[in-house]
Amino acid sequence: MQCPYCGGDAAVLDSRTTSEGVRRRRNCSNCKRRFTTYEKVAAPAIKVVKRSGKTEPFSAEKLIKILLRVSRDRPGVGEEEATRLARNVEAQLIDAGAKNISSSKLATMVLDLLRDMDRLSYDRLAANYMNESGMLRTTPGASASEGQLGLFVGEAKGGQTTKKTD
Ligand SMILES: [Zn+2]
Repeated sequence: MQCPYCGGDAAVLDSRTTSEGVRRRRNCSNCKRRFTTYEKVAAPAIKVVKRSGKTEPFSAEKLIKILLRVSRDRPGVGEEEATRLARNVEAQLIDAGAKNISSSKLATMVLDLLRDMDRLSYDRLAANYMNESGMLRTTPGASASEGQLGLFVGEAKGGQTTKKTD
């Protein structure tokens, strides 16, 4: 690596892996200055395949938001828990070497973890998911929050087209 001060050749003195990435201390062979570099661990891009066949990158942040939404009044699921769950899912995907995951499989993974965390949040997410993916036709007005779980579902409504034929 080039020294940021003189452009000389900088050797690695030591490196340490942290949760944030790899931290390396370097020493320039030319000007003898020392500096530290950080290399972020880049999470491999995992794509979520929606029911429509479209894909979008898996986003732990998005998942955290969804979790916080379904569990907003639940004391057992706060930001910390939601983050842990989302990171857990992400880690499982990375460990499995997955490049793609279907939205339904992802939902199953999330729901499995959420069930152990908070039953009511689980019920809400499950209902929401089934509602949006068209597995369940709920009664009108029953908190239909269309598109709320964008991560898990396809576009807009489950293939229903309303045609005006008159
Ligand atoms: Zn230098």
